[in-house]
Amino acid sequence: MATSFTRLSMLALAVMAFAAQADDKTLNIYSARHYQTDEALYANFTKLTGIKVNRLDGKEDELLERIKTEGAKSPADILITVDAARLEIADQAGLFAPIQSKVLDKRIPANLRTPNWIAFSTRARLIAYNKSAVKAEWVQTYGDLAHPRLKGQVCVRSGSHPYNLSLGGAFIAHQSEQQAEAWARGLVQNFARSPKGGDTDQLKAVAAGECGVTITNSYYLARLMRSNKPEDRKVVEALGVAWPNQQTWGTHINVSGAGIIKTAPNKAAAMQFLEYLSSDQAQAYFADGNNEWPAVASVKIDNPALTALGQFKPDTIGVGELAKNAAKAQKLFDRAGWR
Ligand code: FE
Repeated sequence: MATSFTRLSMLALAVMAFAAQADDKTLNIYSARHYQTDEALYANFTKLTGIKVNRLDGKEDELLERIKTEGAKSPADILITVDAARLEIADQAGLFAPIQSKVLDKRIPANLRTPNWIAFSTRARLIAYNKSAVKAEWVQTYGDLAHPRLKGQVCVRSGSHPYNLSLGGAFIAHQSEQQAEAWARGLVQNFARSPKGGDTDQLKAVAAGECGVTITNSYYLARLMRSNKPEDRKVVEALGVAWPNQQTWGTHINVSGAGIIKTAPNKAAAMQFLEYLSSDQAQAYFADGNNEWPAVASVKIDNPALTALGQFKPDTIGVGELAKNAAKAQKLFDRAGWR
């Protein structure tokens, strides 16, 4: 109790400080992206424009509630977060203003845009397996993970996590709800253990032989690939990587994205910031800092792990479409027992 009270009080203080600074040389960002490397992304914007960035970090749900509670007086200009399903929830709650920008229309591919929020980087949900326990040809599609030959081999994080819900959303869009549910049931049948921990925990469990295969976001793997710690090197050496669904709908892609808050006091600065995020320089920060792929395909990246992961066929479904299916995915994952 005491901890959450302190946290909320600090949040309130930070927001009060924001409100006092609302003017055209200030931008208030509510961020649910927690990557240290993003500091450089924001600092560079201030350097280029002279616009001061105030950032309120929080959990997604907390920030959404905050904006709703603050109502018309909210100092929030921008919400930046990860995962298409989460962005869609914010949009469904009516928090975003429409985005009209020729720059963004030109820079960001159409499948990574919606009318009210834009994706600025992508991450793939790929399959990693233990090379001494699982053959590459057994794990070429998401569907393969439900095959009985992988009984007792699958480790994966909770079915309620947005990363899996967005994957479920893509599955539904390309195949059907019925097939997605059958897949989830097969996956649960193959669990090595009840879902626990994040993607990195699954990668470590697969490398340790506790399970044979998992589904992970690409940047967690890339982070281990770039680590100098001997224990991380050992994990990477034990793993094989498969790009799922290369012969069919492509590997599922999720995104980081942002929208402008409907009540934003600094709308012009907010638009300037979104356009900045699509610039070559900002796009390179996403790639080199957090091991994500830039949304702007022409941007050159300098990231040995992404280079080593190589080329693959990504799913090109619209991010808005898969996000809309996430609620259906949650229901059928629940029915299938993927907790
Ligand atoms: Fe993550």
